[in-house]
Amino acid sequence: MNTLDNAQVAIVTGASRGIGAAVAQRLAKDGFAVAINYASSSAEADALVTELTAAGAKAIAVQADVSNADDVRRMFEVAEQQLGKVDVLINNAGVLKPVPLADTSDALYDQTFDINVRGTFNTLREAAARMNDGGRIVNFSSTTLALNMPGYAIYNATKAAVEAFTHVFAKELRGRNITVNAVAPGPVATSLFLDGKTEEQIQNFAKMPPLQRLGQPDDIASVVAFLASADAGWVNGQILRANGGLA
Ligand code: NAP
Repeated sequence: MNTLDNAQVAIVTGASRGIGAAVAQRLAKDGFAVAINYASSSAEADALVTELTAAGAKAIAVQADVSNADDVRRMFEVAEQQLGKVDVLINNAGVLKPVPLADTSDALYDQTFDINVRGTFNTLREAAARMNDGGRIVNFSSTTLALNMPGYAIYNATKAAVEAFTHVFAKELRGRNITVNAVAPGPVATSLFLDGKTEEQIQNFAKMPPLQRLGQPDDIASVVAFLASADAGWVNGQILRANGGLA
């Protein structure tokens, strides 16, 4: 745990539950001071802060809607004031509501692009101005991009944009020694994946990878922890598909 005052500082967006919460737990265990971002789930975010603090880590909860540039600016300011200049940014916040393209409302299209794409854009732009040199950025794509399943056109389009940001931004940060990578999980047992699916649909997804199970948040957290670590210093501009061999 990050009991040292000079701990490196990580922001994890969308860390009140699911993969983001597991990433925050893992980074705290690895010695980072962690800013746990959420949009509306304050009780879950506060409970995670209490858990990490009780274990000896430095952690704060920061409310910010990543799709709002002012919120994102404030999130970086709060993290900087309370924990120190940011070393690691994990762009985990995201939404998925699988609906065929022809049935997608303007509101759902806007919400999915606002959170998944504009949210990532907002934090990357802020990170360029505020992060320490030598830092790490990990974005979130999805293995659904490689599967082209019906219902995923809008979501996949947002993750294609995130992958494009990842490749280009890694090059735009030349000279800063900051790496920019993305992790692309396959199906992971979180509310984003499980909600609205029948048990049969869930089991069908679980059988798809040759490793024959759903991913768990910790499977992804360990990949993110590697990309955030000193050991991953030579990995830059890459998309790491963590999906049990699904695609
Ligand atoms: P999840 O369990 O639904 O959690 C989503 C998190 O994002 C929550 O903490 C939520 O907090 C936060 N969030 C949502 N909108 C936000 C906003 N506008 N601003 C800030 N935070 C916001 O989702 P998950 O499964 O852990 O997914 C995490 C990431 O992995 C996403 O980018 C997703 O696309 C990607 N992914 C997931 C899977 C999977 O199967 N689960 C597969 C591939 C990729 P609030 O409740 O406070 O809004």
